[in-house]
Amino acid sequence: MNKISFDDLNGKVCVITGGAGVIGVSLVKALVSVGTKVAIVDLNEELAKQVASEISKEFNAVCIGVKANVLEKESLEAAKEEINQILGPIELLINGAGGNSPMATTQVEQLEEGDLDHLEKSFYGLQMEGFDKVFALNFKGTLLPTMVFTKDMLHARKGSVLNISSMNSYHPLTKIPAYSAAKASVNNFTEWLAVHLAKVGIRVNAVAPGFFITNQNRFLVLDEKTGGYSARGNKIVTNTPMGKFGDPDDLQGASLYLLSDLSSFVTGIVIPVDGGFNAYSGV
Ligand code: NAD
Repeated sequence: MNKISFDDLNGKVCVITGGAGVIGVSLVKALVSVGTKVAIVDLNEELAKQVASEISKEFNAVCIGVKANVLEKESLEAAKEEINQILGPIELLINGAGGNSPMATTQVEQLEEGDLDHLEKSFYGLQMEGFDKVFALNFKGTLLPTMVFTKDMLHARKGSVLNISSMNSYHPLTKIPAYSAAKASVNNFTEWLAVHLAKVGIRVNAVAPGFFITNQNRFLVLDEKTGGYSARGNKIVTNTPMGKFGDPDDLQGASLYLLSDLSSFVTGIVIPVDGGFNAYSGV
């Protein structure tokens, strides 16, 4: 029997969109630690190049930063050309760009009798601009990079795609209808594409992170004045059986597993990495 390891990831080329973000950086570190060559594809070119340079030095690794917008196919195609020239054919893809926006967030969890004079705080006050932006970033921003960056995998008849979903894809969280619907669509698309590509050697899976304090949700889970948890932050910890927020590094193991040949008969699944949140009914 062969030794169980992530050795098959050594020397492979992986693209990670949104790779300069909080979760992205942690996943890039996991990948380079097993010898994967990584292209961080991010809208924020300066940050992508800076993160790539720091990680290259720290891990003596091959890591580059490339600018692209996950919502523009031409920009992704230009990035692919650059990556192919520098690193070679792409064998792995992580769709990590995504996030929520205050413009697509209601101020109240439920519409109560007392709020009827302030409908702007509820569903009725949501701005379509914010709704469209969040839905596009999370859904179209997963679909388009997959269309572009899996082409080399198609030629090789081998590859692995990892989408980053969210806990709210199973049950919507209050206040964030656009983000919840978009991540539910990411799960659905993960299953659809896994079936579509199963016979040409490309696997498609996802991880669904639970709760991590990062840039996109800080305004919801921390109290600006005290720096402690907001009421919502407390609710999350109370409903997470492990009793804490996760650390982005907690996603590393499940992500490497789904990218590697260790999961070679696994496609179309979404793994929750959530301290038990999804399993708990609250009672
Ligand atoms: P982040 O905001 O720290 O990083 C997101 C990165 O994506 C940034 O570097 C940003 O520049 C980049 N980006 C934004 N728009 C882009 C575009 N149009 N094209 C290319 N790059 C773009 O976010 P994060 O917390 O690291 O989240 C990463 C992923 O994990 C997202 O899909 C997010 O929805 C998901 N997620 C996060 C949490 C959490 O608690 N933070 C929980 C569940 C799921």
